[in-house]
Amino acid sequence: MGKKWVYLFEEVAEAEKYCGGDWEKVRGLLGGKGAGLADMSRADVPVPPGFTVTTEACNEFRKTNNFPEGQWDQQLAALKVVEQRTGKKFGDPSNPLLVSCRSGAKFSMPGMMNTILNIGLNDDVVEGMTKLTNNPRFVWDSYRRVIGMFGTTAFGLSDELFEHPMSEYKAKKGYKLDTDMTADDWKALVAIFKEVFKKNVGFDFPQDVYKQVELATKAVFGSWMGKRAIDYRRATNIPDDLGTAVNIQTMVFGNMGFDSGTGVAFTRNPSTGDPKMMGEYLLNAQGEDVVAGIRNTNPVEHMTETMPEIYKQFMGITGNLEKHYKEMQDVEFTIEHGKLWMLQTRNGKRTAKAAIKIAVDMANEGLISKEEAVLRVTPDQVDALLHPQFDDKAKKEAEKAGAFFAKGVNASPGAAVGQAYFDANKAEKMSKEEKQDTIMVRPFTKPDDVHGMIASKGVLTSEGGATSHAAVVARQFGIPCVVGANMIKIDLEKRVMVVDNKVVKEGDWISVDGTTGQVFIGKISATAPRLEEQTELLTLLTWADEITARKDIRTLADGRKAPGVQVWANADYPKDAQRARSYGAKGIGLCRTEHMFFETERLPIVQKMILAETSEERTKQLNLLLPTQRKDFDGLFEAMDGYPVIIRLIDPPLHEFMPDEEKLLEEVITMRVKGETKGLKEKEHLLAEIKGLHESNPMMGMRGVRLSISMPEIVEMQVRAIFEAAADCTLRKIVVHPEVMIPLTGTIKELEWIQPRLERIAKAVMDEKKVTFTYKFGTMIEIPRAAVTAGELAKLAQFFSFGTNDLTQMTFGYSRDDAERNFLLTYIEQKILVKNPFQTLDRDGVGKLMQMAVNDGRKTRPELEVGICGEHGGDPESIEWCHIIGNNYVSCSPFRVPVARLAAAIYALKYSGTSKAEDK
Ligand code: PEP
Ligand code: MG
Repeated sequence: MGKKWVYLFEEVAEAEKYCGGDWEKVRGLLGGKGAGLADMSRADVPVPPGFTVTTEACNEFRKTNNFPEGQWDQQLAALKVVEQRTGKKFGDPSNPLLVSCRSGAKFSMPGMMNTILNIGLNDDVVEGMTKLTNNPRFVWDSYRRVIGMFGTTAFGLSDELFEHPMSEYKAKKGYKLDTDMTADDWKALVAIFKEVFKKNVGFDFPQDVYKQVELATKAVFGSWMGKRAIDYRRATNIPDDLGTAVNIQTMVFGNMGFDSGTGVAFTRNPSTGDPKMMGEYLLNAQGEDVVAGIRNTNPVEHMTETMPEIYKQFMGITGNLEKHYKEMQDVEFTIEHGKLWMLQTRNGKRTAKAAIKIAVDMANEGLISKEEAVLRVTPDQVDALLHPQFDDKAKKEAEKAGAFFAKGVNASPGAAVGQAYFDANKAEKMSKEEKQDTIMVRPFTKPDDVHGMIASKGVLTSEGGATSHAAVVARQFGIPCVVGANMIKIDLEKRVMVVDNKVVKEGDWISVDGTTGQVFIGKISATAPRLEEQTELLTLLTWADEITARKDIRTLADGRKAPGVQVWANADYPKDAQRARSYGAKGIGLCRTEHMFFETERLPIVQKMILAETSEERTKQLNLLLPTQRKDFDGLFEAMDGYPVIIRLIDPPLHEFMPDEEKLLEEVITMRVKGETKGLKEKEHLLAEIKGLHESNPMMGMRGVRLSISMPEIVEMQVRAIFEAAADCTLRKIVVHPEVMIPLTGTIKELEWIQPRLERIAKAVMDEKKVTFTYKFGTMIEIPRAAVTAGELAKLAQFFSFGTNDLTQMTFGYSRDDAERNFLLTYIEQKILVKNPFQTLDRDGVGKLMQMAVNDGRKTRPELEVGICGEHGGDPESIEWCHIIGNNYVSCSPFRVPVARLAAAIYALKYSGTSKAEDK
């Protein structure tokens, strides 16, 4: 027998065998939907009989535009089995079987590919069905739908070709709603649709039901390479070569009267994560009526009144499905004449907030382990949760000022402020080309609106519910979204939306609150949420830290066991350190001391110190700075009681502290022209000094350790301030671990020159104060030569910290201040660089240097502490590299600390091989 391209739902065991027992591979072969249907059949869930054509068949089809050999015969054979299972016959007017044909890739791509329903209807079957169901209205309605669907999906006709004659027909009859249409009306519309079909496709709508299956299968395969599917895959990083499966399944009808219905539901709330079923259903309706959001749906719990027995069965099945998959499920169901059918189950898409709550709740319920909970949340989701929300006060004020516009369903949380645009193309254009913040506003959205949604800060619709297309897509991309704000009248022609007498024109600013569902005219200010209020996130991060802290979770290059990477923070001031600590930082990895010099009352002293002509004069000025620096450090040590604090000695070139040269020159010239003499000499002197400090290439000039060696008094004062503060804190019972960091080292000789002098001061202070505490002296690795000679540097340096901002600059030779605005974006567009190396570590170059430095440094000093304090310290991909090369910690902005904590745990698990944890 040739290759098997078609699997009946009940043939799941065979599919598993073919995939070597690997369920992920089964999902790859049958697609998420097909695998789910097969798995459900096996679990005795009532699934309408059917079969799946594999993704392998799709990939073959894509090569030749023909079905691979054997596929069609296998489809026909499978159809026969389905006929047996249902007791119906395909194309038989007296007892017709109708089927649906749906796409189903390995990863869900909601609404991005084709679906055709009611396949098997033709002129004869319609007559037979009418007799059988005694419901001609439903049958003719189904028939016109199938003709329309074939036209639009199999032959790419525009919806408009069918919608327009339908609106005309309704207008002629004076109908407002589809429900006004009678059986004869639908019959008349079938004739109209057939003509539209023939005129635009070139032949009659096929009466051969097998031809219909063939065309539908091809349409689904073809839609894998359709524009909107490709766009979606690009945005979600789904590879093109996965292909889609095709699921052909017995149709069951929710529109067979009021003992029938259809709905969609999530087993937990996909917006908040609350462990409560959330869904919608409609009596006497087809599935698409629910998701399109065109009719007003009822919440599923209303079924307790309309169909209590079925509701009980439904809750039982969905509860079991969640236990089986250990994940929140998104299900579709239909009730046909009082019988419940489950059409689909898949892991539900959710907001970042819900993802975290569900992961933590499921671990607490014992359904999954803590490790799995950690692995189920992405660093981006943690980031999203720390994103802004509207200021309550600002919102109240806006309300008072009459800026409230409308309220709808809070479909995807977060605050969005932007200019309103009424179609996807315009929203995308204004965002991309005009760099505007845009809000896309539509009556409802369709799959080909996704590009406009992704480009927008927020989405607003006047129709649809919490499971409508707009809601599902917005949640997935973390875009704040309000749907179903039905008091809004959108006039797409005039490009305005109106509520009572309030009018919003295209381009006007609006504020959309996806958390509450409110919409305001104008801009409202937003604030970042408070981490301490996010209980589930805090729990998850505590679990993450526990994982990272396991002493044997990582094997270092030299074979020793070690914990994962800790997360420290960059903080210059005590208040930053407090925030960092409250966000879970386990140390300060970088305090840029020069920031303290820039403060208004200190800057004049700093300038005098720089201009001092003698060492005594310089020391005099530095002595004035000493108490304030000591106070800064005191505050840092106090905030980080018990944790290490790395203080970097002065780094930038001195001209940065001086007045602006051009401005000063202008002042001098003006004074000369006006003949003013008072103060002129001083200004001229200052100007000459500033000119003297001028360098052509300051980034590579007199900065870092070079400056310390040229003017040691500055760093001597700094070290004294550090150790005096540390000693004072120790006396106050605060536990201090100061680490003094020397920047921009390029050769061991520099350390040999400066470090012993500084260590002498450290010891002298401890003697004076009669206290001892542990401390370290170490260096930044920011210059390629430092990385290459790290083995030498480690003789003196007790720790390394990678300054990857400078290390990237110097390794590539790209100016960190100019590259982005000049050529970097072109480089990325032209694929010369994959990513911006100032954001994500370049592993092949900068990363290799780092790895070499760690290995060589630890050969000299096995206990060498290694960290990173460049911007990369908060970037998950870069954190992964730091984990791989054996960094002890990463240090990043306090705001990134929660993101980095989760990332650190995820990589600790990934590289320890613990993708699924044993201990619950
Ligand atoms: C670095 O170069 O990565 C660093 C942290 O130092 P700075 O950004 O202050 O130069
Ligand atoms: Mg630097």
